[in-house]
Amino acid sequence: MDNCIFCKIIKGEIPSYKVAETEEAYAFLDIGPLAYGHTLVLPKKHIANIFEADPKDLYPVLDLVQRIAALMKEKLPCDGVNILINNGEAAGQSVMHCHWHLIPRKAGDGYHFPPPGSLSPETAQKILKSLR
Ligand code: AMP
Ligand code: ZN
Repeated sequence: MDNCIFCKIIKGEIPSYKVAETEEAYAFLDIGPLAYGHTLVLPKKHIANIFEADPKDLYPVLDLVQRIAALMKEKLPCDGVNILINNGEAAGQSVMHCHWHLIPRKAGDGYHFPPPGSLSPETAQKILKSLR
C-alpha cells in the first residue's frame, strides 16, 4: 500500500534496523522501544489488522514471532517476552499495518500492566452469551 510506512520499510524505501526476514514476514527494531530489544514482526503483505486478516497470511508471521522470541531469550538480557498486537485505534494501533510487538522482559524490571479486576459469575455469563 502506497502511503503505509511499514510497507515502505519492507520495500527498503525507509530505513529500518532489520532483525530478520522471510518470504512472508519482516522483523525490525521498534524506534520507540518499551524495553531493550523491542521488536516488531509483520506480514510483508499489507493487512490492516486482525479483523481484516486471512489466517493463512498470519501463520508464517507467527513462525517468525516464535523464532525471534526464542532468540531474545537466548541472546538478550531477557527472562520472558510480552507479545501483543494492537488492533484498531481504540486498542492503541497507530500504524495500520498489522504487527506483533515483541517486548523482552527482565525479572523485576518493574513494568506493570494495570492491576487486575475481579470477574463475577454474572459478568462471565453475560460475556459468554455474547461470544459463544
Ligand atoms: P502501534 O501503536 O501498535 O501501531 O505500534 C506502532 C509502533 O511502530 C510504535 O511502537 C512505534 O514506535 C513504531 N514505529 C513507528 N514508526 C517506526 C519506524 N519508522 N521504525 C521503527 N518503528 C516505528
Ligand atoms: Zn502496509
